[in-house]
Amino acid sequence: MSSTLRFKVVGEAFHKKPIEVPTPEERPSEFFGKYVFNRQKMFKYLPASVYQKMCDVIDNGTKLDMETANAVAAGMKQWAMEMGVTHCTHWFQPLTEGTAEKHDGFVEHDRKGGMVEEFTGKELVQQEPDASSFPSGGIRSTFEARGYSAWDPASPVFIIGDTLMIPTVFISYTGEALDYKAPLKKAIHAVDKAATEVARYFYPDVKKVISNLGWEQEYFLVDEALYAARPDLLMTGRTLMGHDSAKNQQMDDHYFGSIPARVAAFMKELEIRALELGIPCKTRHNEVAPNQFELAPIFEETNLAVDHNMLIMSLMQEVARKHGFRCLLHEKPFAGINGSGKHNNWSLATDTGILLHGPGKTPVDNLRFVTFIVETLMAVHKHNGLLKASIISATNAHRLGANEAPPAIISSFLGQQLTNLLNHLEGATDDELINLAGKQSLSLDIPQIPELLLDNTDRNRTSPFAFTGNRFEFRAVGAQANCAAAMIVLNTAMAEALTSFKTRVDQRIAQGTEPFKAILQVVRQDIKACKPIRFDGNGYSDEWKAEAGQRGLDVECSAPLILDRYLDEDTVEMFSSMNVLTRAELEARSEIKWETYIKKIQIEARIFGDICLSHIIPVATRYQSQLMDNVHKVKDIFPADTAARLSANNISLIEQICEHTSFITENVNQLTDSRRVANAIESVRERAIAYHDTVAPLLESIRYHIDKLELIVDDELWPLPKYREMLFIR
Ligand code: ADP
Ligand code: MG
Repeated sequence: MSSTLRFKVVGEAFHKKPIEVPTPEERPSEFFGKYVFNRQKMFKYLPASVYQKMCDVIDNGTKLDMETANAVAAGMKQWAMEMGVTHCTHWFQPLTEGTAEKHDGFVEHDRKGGMVEEFTGKELVQQEPDASSFPSGGIRSTFEARGYSAWDPASPVFIIGDTLMIPTVFISYTGEALDYKAPLKKAIHAVDKAATEVARYFYPDVKKVISNLGWEQEYFLVDEALYAARPDLLMTGRTLMGHDSAKNQQMDDHYFGSIPARVAAFMKELEIRALELGIPCKTRHNEVAPNQFELAPIFEETNLAVDHNMLIMSLMQEVARKHGFRCLLHEKPFAGINGSGKHNNWSLATDTGILLHGPGKTPVDNLRFVTFIVETLMAVHKHNGLLKASIISATNAHRLGANEAPPAIISSFLGQQLTNLLNHLEGATDDELINLAGKQSLSLDIPQIPELLLDNTDRNRTSPFAFTGNRFEFRAVGAQANCAAAMIVLNTAMAEALTSFKTRVDQRIAQGTEPFKAILQVVRQDIKACKPIRFDGNGYSDEWKAEAGQRGLDVECSAPLILDRYLDEDTVEMFSSMNVLTRAELEARSEIKWETYIKKIQIEARIFGDICLSHIIPVATRYQSQLMDNVHKVKDIFPADTAARLSANNISLIEQICEHTSFITENVNQLTDSRRVANAIESVRERAIAYHDTVAPLLESIRYHIDKLELIVDDELWPLPKYREMLFIR
């Protein structure tokens, strides 16, 4: 088969074929999913029996046989060719954070000297990218470079430009996961299994529990020309220097303000493109910081929501460029104003309703509600350090712990009413709570949960894991992160908590306790056990930091040390017992995380040093010479004492420039030295720690002096666009 072997980021594919922007008359219901091989298209392009089989594969996870795969590929090919598609690619999510593709043409020799278009089940189902350059943390040594990408039928195939994109998992020759999707699918399966069993205590007919994710994506836009004039932004995604703008977000006038016309045009096209790709975009608004915006779709099943978030991040960058912008997904592109996160709204649901939804219609509904809330808290409490590890990165570290959501301690906000309810349950005796006279007349003295609960819960913006009515909102996830990292930990931890819950309830039932009484007893036990994770106060305060430590919560702030949690015995035990990740896979992942951390800071330090030495110092020196020149000239013209008086200010500036530039020069040398020392450290963990402790702080201390120079040096000479120039799109 002739093929074009190239890897590239997904964004490039968007250039291929301009997609016409539909006229305003065209309604989203018309073009939603236009480029997706969804059930509608499957129904149209597949034989009825194949369609049925595919539904079974998607809904119930049954195995896909080759005969079905071939039939699906044939239907897909027909649809794709009608849409002008010529290539296909397996689309996967390696641990580098982005997405990757390898494109193959739909062509094959026809054995008569010509070519035919061909796309078989085998190509749909599996590819073998020679992927030795993707990080594997040592799992896949280069001599055995084969990794397999395998179709994930739960996420529909879609078209970008001339290419059919096939969502896949990416695994090594020996079966270890090399991506985010493989463990995510296992975590979703684990929580389905555990939650279904617990849900059956309340509703015996439950067949399946689905994990839902609704992400809210924050981002910045900057003008493309200004972006291009900032080498730091270009290379690292953030500004490594830049003095505060006189006006930034102190007026709170950007949040929910009216959207500038240029930005509105960008948003409109983005939404249309997203809807065409089956991403159910719903909300768009300004965020707190100037030039900061948010986009959110309606929640979806977690596996699909993760794919859609990866897709939208590429799409945003592509569409932004068409509108003369650059889209910044870095968690902290500008110091002094809010950074960007990606709130992950998470819930579990059966086919008939959301398990975290309260109040219920019946006492049984209420007990179900309380059970799932409390077991979520158990999961988050037990693995709070690991949850933090799942969202930490060199870039998100700038956002955590600053005076903006979220703090670097994971805690959960429930709101007053739910807190009262849990306190009531904790304090009451069995007899006070339950009055059993046969199942029919079961009555639980769980006070009526007021309807208000739904609207009254999400306003503590300082909480990283807040209950918001029928879901928890995990706010610590970084704007450019793959949501899967957090979702793998959360769903697996929940699966573990529910499994333990069921074991303990069943033990009591086996000893003769009535089921609902047994549930209540275990729930009460757990309310006590996970109490330290509940915190409704101000997560930004210093008192909370001290108190959280006393409560035994993880208060570590250093990113490389936070990552240690991936190798804790509790973590290894959780992931292996839930069959999500093995110890070897966890070790590999930790290596990659530390390695990525180092590389990010290394790149920052290099470009920072370059800018200091070839942009800042020369310009500051030139301005200083101008001042010196002026001082000399004043001296020539005026008598000595007058000249001294007139030049006092300039002489002081000359001194200040001297002090700042010599600090910068000395410390840039120091920066190079600390990198050299760190690079010589063999252990990747220790190296990451050295980068954190000795390299990163220098960037901050040098920056202070650059920002001071920015205020002194003639604006005409200053070599970089300033915050006030970049931050206010009109
Ligand atoms: P906010 O007030 O936090 O901005 P929104 O109403 O905009 O909240 O919703 C944020 C996200 O939460 C959306 O993607 C929405 O679909 C999602 N969401 C709503 N209910 C649930 C749920 N039960 N499970 C998961 N996500 C949900
Ligand atoms: Mg929200």
